[in-house]
Amino acid sequence: LTSGLESAWNKLKGEEVLTKENIAEPMRDIRRALLEADVSLPVVRRFVQSVGDQAVGVGLIRGVKPDQQLVKIVRDELVKLMGGEVSELVFAKSGPTVILLAGLQGVGKTTICAKLANYLKKQGKSCMLVAGDVYRPAAIDQLVILGEQVGVSVYTEGTDVKPSEIARKGLEEAKKKNIDVVIVDTAGRLQIDKAMMDELKDVKRVLNPTEVLLVVDAMTGQEAGVFYVNLELCDESIIKEIGKPIALVTTFNLEIGITGAILTKLDGDSRGGAALSVKEISGKPIKLVGRGERMEDLEPFYPDRMAGRILGMGDVLSLVEKAQEVMQQEDAEDLQKKIMGANFDFNDFLKQTRAVAKMGSMTRVLGMIPGMTKVTPAQIREAEKSLKIMEGMIEAMTPEEREKPELLAESPQRRKRVAQASGKTEQQVSQLVAQLFQMRVRMKNLMGAMEGGSIPSMSN
Ligand code: GDP
Ligand code: MG
Repeated sequence: LTSGLESAWNKLKGEEVLTKENIAEPMRDIRRALLEADVSLPVVRRFVQSVGDQAVGVGLIRGVKPDQQLVKIVRDELVKLMGGEVSELVFAKSGPTVILLAGLQGVGKTTICAKLANYLKKQGKSCMLVAGDVYRPAAIDQLVILGEQVGVSVYTEGTDVKPSEIARKGLEEAKKKNIDVVIVDTAGRLQIDKAMMDELKDVKRVLNPTEVLLVVDAMTGQEAGVFYVNLELCDESIIKEIGKPIALVTTFNLEIGITGAILTKLDGDSRGGAALSVKEISGKPIKLVGRGERMEDLEPFYPDRMAGRILGMGDVLSLVEKAQEVMQQEDAEDLQKKIMGANFDFNDFLKQTRAVAKMGSMTRVLGMIPGMTKVTPAQIREAEKSLKIMEGMIEAMTPEEREKPELLAESPQRRKRVAQASGKTEQQVSQLVAQLFQMRVRMKNLMGAMEGGSIPSMSN
């Protein structure tokens, strides 16, 4: 999407007023870019129409270039399309808040259960998970394991108990225990069918949930789940006939009544087209996004940031926030002081490495930096591998060696020991030590230059 839109902007440079004629080509690029990003066709049509209507005649405002104004119109329209503001989760005024998760198989419902509990726990809420997917014993085990991982209790019954019965008992238990939020996992199918809808309806009736969130996999895109279908056509026979989850959002919304959606797997290659379609089609906002397999990889959905990302500005804000959360403030300051003092040692090295790893997959971090979106999966795997290797070697060092890398620089015997203990070659250890000293020098130069007012280019 990014490169398509970039070329659209370039075509507009130097124009003074936006006219039907001079926006025709950039608008075609925008249309194509959106379709490539898996935005559903009706949404693209409406979007292009709406942006076009607003754009014509623009350009007379002094001091602002027409192309910049088209950028603004496109951006604002994208934000609007995705719901405008952040949509917060709704909590019940009294008694437990009940969140029911629905969605097709494999979209990430069970993972979201635990992520959401983890997320709400951080906000001081007590949570309980209810295992409502009874078709595969493995699904129950998966939820129990994830619950343990985030320190939240999981209510389970045998696979012979009806999901609505499990839901009822689970809710009872939560009330008894004075739990704030009950999150109910449900079974998904590969495609929408009547049995799944009926079961969800039963579960919903029993629970009277505060939120019913449709979990949507950002990776599915157009091919597996077009998010639009003519409402009149949306009945069971049609869905059966098509044999695909073609009416995903609409159908869940009509049959079950959703209050919002969660977009998962945004860390993948998908360009987020689903985000554009969900709100437009269902009228319900995306509330949260999942961006990885870790329990921390859940965050509110920011329409403005998503628009920024689509337009190629990079999700810099998200990155900064995430980095702040990972590295406690104090830690970061401490590290900065060390860097300034050029005492950067292997402990700092390790801390940094782990912080990066904790921030999520490398894919995600790199994807958020403008201009770095085109990193190939192979490059990412390579980077991750070398991080692992470094970590292994640093772990094999003594505390003293970590603090005083000079010891390793001076002693081949020490390097040999580290190499043997970590299963790496002596050459690899030497390289790592050299790398640390190079980093010190660079940091020192950088700090000196910043004090002097200019930043040197950091070459390799
Ligand atoms: P369910 O069938 O809807 O319950 O889906 P699961 O929660 O079992 O997830 C299916 C697969 O997707 C699992 O392998 C998860 O680890 C993976 N998954 C879930 N959420 C994400 C995400 O945000 N990013 C990535 N990359 N993988 C995810
Ligand atoms: Mg599941």
